[in-house]
Order: sequence, then C-alpha cells, then structure tokens
Amino acid sequence: MSETDVVDVDVIVIGAGFAGMYALHRLRDELGLRVVGVERGTGVGGTWYWNRYPGARCDVESLWYSYSFSEELEQEWSWSERFATQPEILAYAEHVADRFDLRRDILFSTDVRRAEFDDASSTWTVHTADGRTLSARFLLTALGNLSAAQVPRFPGASEFAGRTFHTGAWPHEGVDFTGRRVAVIGTGSSGIQAIPHIAAEAAHLFVLQRTPAFSVPARNRPLAEEELADVKRRYRELRALIHESPAGLPVPPSTLKALELSPAEARSALEERWARGGGWIASTFADNLLSEEANAVTADFVRERIRELVHDPETAESLIPRDYPIGAKRICVDTDYYATFNRDDVTLVDVRRTPIERIIPAGVVVGGREYQVDDLVFATGYDAFTGPLDKIDIIGSGGMCLRDKWSEGPITYLGIATAGFPNLLILTGPGSPSVLANAMPVIEQHVEWACALVDHARRHGLHRVEAQPAAEAEWTAHVGEIASRTILMKAASWYLGANVPGKPRVFVPYAGGLTHYRDICDGVAADGYRGFTLTGGEDAAVA
Ligand code: NAP
Repeated sequence: MSETDVVDVDVIVIGAGFAGMYALHRLRDELGLRVVGVERGTGVGGTWYWNRYPGARCDVESLWYSYSFSEELEQEWSWSERFATQPEILAYAEHVADRFDLRRDILFSTDVRRAEFDDASSTWTVHTADGRTLSARFLLTALGNLSAAQVPRFPGASEFAGRTFHTGAWPHEGVDFTGRRVAVIGTGSSGIQAIPHIAAEAAHLFVLQRTPAFSVPARNRPLAEEELADVKRRYRELRALIHESPAGLPVPPSTLKALELSPAEARSALEERWARGGGWIASTFADNLLSEEANAVTADFVRERIRELVHDPETAESLIPRDYPIGAKRICVDTDYYATFNRDDVTLVDVRRTPIERIIPAGVVVGGREYQVDDLVFATGYDAFTGPLDKIDIIGSGGMCLRDKWSEGPITYLGIATAGFPNLLILTGPGSPSVLANAMPVIEQHVEWACALVDHARRHGLHRVEAQPAAEAEWTAHVGEIASRTILMKAASWYLGANVPGKPRVFVPYAGGLTHYRDICDGVAADGYRGFTLTGGEDAAVA
C-alpha cells in the first residue's frame, strides 16, 4: 500500500497487543468483516513488545495469562515457568499472530495522529504520521492502559551526559550495565523487577525511592511437565472457574475476614499465602480492601517480612510502606528485591524526604548531595488509562475533541463508549475493570462484547451507535461510588492519576469485579443495547 492510498474497511483497530490481536481475529475471521490493524511498534505484543527491561515478567501466573478462545491454541502452547518472562510472553503473542495469520492485516510502524468522525457518512477517518488515511464505520482502540510513559520533568534532565532509559521503551538489543554506576528512579512493579538484575551487573546501583511499595516474593519456578499436562486436560473446568471469578483467576475469592480471626489464625493464613508466593497475599482476607483495620493485619505482616529480609535496620525501615493500605496501589511481585539491598554495591536513596533537586551532566542531585552515575533508568510509570488516548487527536461528532471532553476525568458508558463519539469502542477503557483483574479474561470479555455490538449494527443495518449522555453519567458516577466504598482511594496511585502532575484525581477503573461487570454488559446487550442510541436500518431504535 502506498502512503497516499485511502484504505476503506469496516473496522479499524488501533494497537496490536493482546486486545487488538483478538479483536482483529474475531472481526475478520469469525464475523467476516474487512478489518485493518494499526500498530506503532514493528511487531505485535503491545506491553510485552515495549517492556523489555531486565527481569520483566508477568505477575499473573502464565497458565491463566493466556487466551481461552481457542482450544487448539491452549493445547499447542506450553509455558515453561510459573510466571513467564517478557520474551516468552512476546513469543506467545507472535505465535498467536502467526497461527491466526494476523500480520497481513496490520500496518506496523504506523503511528496514529488523528481520528475524526464524519457526521454525514457516520464513518471514522484515521490519519497516520506517515501520511496514510484509513476510513471505516467503526474504530476500536486497543491501546493498553499503561502504554504512555510518564517521565518526570526534572530540571537539567537534558544536560545529563550518560544514557537514559524508560522501562516501557527498553532498547531491543538490551542494555549492558557492567561496570557502570546506575540510578533507578521509581520502585513500582517495573523498578522492583529490574533492580535486582541491574544490581547484579552494575558497579554501583542507587535506588531513588519516593514511595516504598508492598512487594511479595513470586516464588517463581519451572512448570513440571505433569502440571502442565494436568492443566491442559482440565482447561475447560479451570476457564469456567476464571469466568466466575471477580479477579479473573481460577480461585474462588477468600471468605476469611481478618477481624473475625484470632491473631494466630490470621497469621497462619498469611504465612500460607506468603509461602505460596505471588500477589495472593493481598486477597487472603475478604475485607482487605473494605476496612483499614482489616487491611492493617496483612500490611503489618508484610512489614515484618521486610524487616526480616533486609539486614540493615535503617534501610529496612526506609523500605517499609507506611502511609497507604496494602493493595491500594497495585501490589508488586518480585524475585530477590529486598535481598538486593543487602549488597554493598546498592544504595537506597530516600527521595521522599529530600526530593530529586536536579539532574546534572554527571548524575543526580538529591538534598544537596551529588550522586554520580553513568546511566539513569526511569521506572517512573505511565500516564495511565487516558494517556494513550490523549496522544491521538480524537475528534467526535460536531468537532468535539475527546481530550477536551475528558479534561475533568474520563466519562464513559461501561468503560467502552462515550457520548459524542459514535462508533468508537474503547477496549478495556476508563470505567471498565481493565487493570483490576487478570488482563486476559478482561480483554476477552471486552473484545467479545464490542464485536457483538459491531455485528449487531451490521445485521440491523445501523450506521451509528452512540452512548447516551445520561447512561454515561450514571455509569461514571457508579464507578466512582464503587471505588469510594473501598480503601482504593487511600493511596496516591496511578489508578487515580495521582502520579501525573496536574491530572484530575478520579478513580478510573471499575472496582466492582469482572463477573458483575460482565453481567451488567450482557444485560445491556440483552435489552437491545440499553443506554445506546442506535441509528439507521429498518430495526433502528432509540434504546
Ligand atoms: P508505577 O507503579 O507508577 O511506579 C512508578 C514509580 O516511579 C513509583 O515508585 C513512583 O513513586 C516513582 N516516581 C514517579 N515520579 C517520580 C518522581 N518525580 N520522583 C521520584 N519518583 C517518582 O509504574 P510501574 O512500576 O511501571 O508500574 C505500573 C503498572 O504497570 C503496575 O502497577 C502494573 O500494573 C503494571 N506492571 C506490571 C508488571 C508485571 O506484570 N509484572 C510489571 C511492570 C508493570 P510514587 O509511588 O511516589 O509516585
């Protein structure tokens, strides 16, 4: 295709991560639609394409972090470890792309700059950075919620003489830190995974920590052949359990309540989860996210473990989170994170008490002290949820810009549609469960629901599908109300936009659980897409 061709299809899908790939497959191969995918990377995989930093791994167990839509795919793919590495997950994404022959309909290395809805034709026109124009009745965004890097603007940053990296845009060829003095800024999931690996190579590592994280050991291990074979035999049964789980995991939610147990009983339950490894500890008790008092039982247990793992008491105290409940920020899952601070060549620098003042050519200045480094690693996270959408000029009906509409925070109906932007479906968007449950079942639910809506429009000859203002106002209020019943509001987290200076503080994802959410979406569809205005065709109706 030349750069000036206009491509006219039924659906444009932006993004070729797990959501975009599945949407392309379902729309093209199951519904027989003409679809084009657009992806800024040179390959598929989304977050797993970009996040190539050392130690990058999924914090959801591999066996459940996979598509369920194809039994053949389930049977032919074998995970090698309990928590898969980034290269293995990327290989899985590439295998899916090959197996379903997806690449032929994806424009790689293509950045979308602008998407504009035309009221007269009820179509979207997408303009890419390299001058292509694509048009379609439906536009699906599958941009990921954590794909717009957040790099704090420290004075002097452009003068730094060494190398700088962001964990979410890691060089494909890898980075050799041997013999170098390195500073890592940020101790969220990305920093916590990268720090032990960088420490093992670097001459000296400075960890610049603003807020300590609650991190739990992954207890990663190879998957035994028998275990894998057993799961493959029982996949349908396990997928059914995942389907019934608010978190999208094949384990029923805990019924234990921290405050109803004796201290010894609570401790024993926590010890069992700590020994099991992974993020399970935050869900040991059903009331963990509902009561600060109950939450303190788990938080105190993890604080004690940090004290045991870190030899120097002063460093241990600096690594202990104190000012927010456990689980209010996404819990981190690590391998040897705390033990890394027992190394002589690793220094923890508390940048909460004395923030980073500036960056100088030779390093970083904190509290008047110069830390000389060769490399700076930003593990500083993302402008979550809205950041990836904000990078595109999305212009809806009557010339409204999505960025402007959402200037006080995102407003959506079911996290998938927004009034004034007909035929735009935002996969795992703001107001959907997205990051609060296992991403794969979340993606599958959203893709299947969105594709069913596109199919409904096609079968009924509808040319315009649009969320109603009253429906989105009610849904957005509901998302906020559900979050306000939990302790999720009690941390300055990226769930709330608190990590981006000037961003409105609104709790974005839907905290009501994937099962409940799925029931709501299914009910909306069963009611003829209640809350959407459907225009055109013989069956056209204002629902
Ligand atoms: P993050 O959780 O937002 O962590 C960013 C870190 O940078 C925080 O420690 C933050 O401190 C710090 N920071 C930001 N601005 C700073 C500043 N101006 N000065 C000093 N420190 C600053 O980002 P992330 O670690 O990339 O993780 C984001 C999410 O991605 C995770 O929560 C998770 O959902 C996902 N993720 C998953 C995996 C996995 O599956 N294993 C791995 C990586 C990421 P404050 O806390 O004080 O803001």
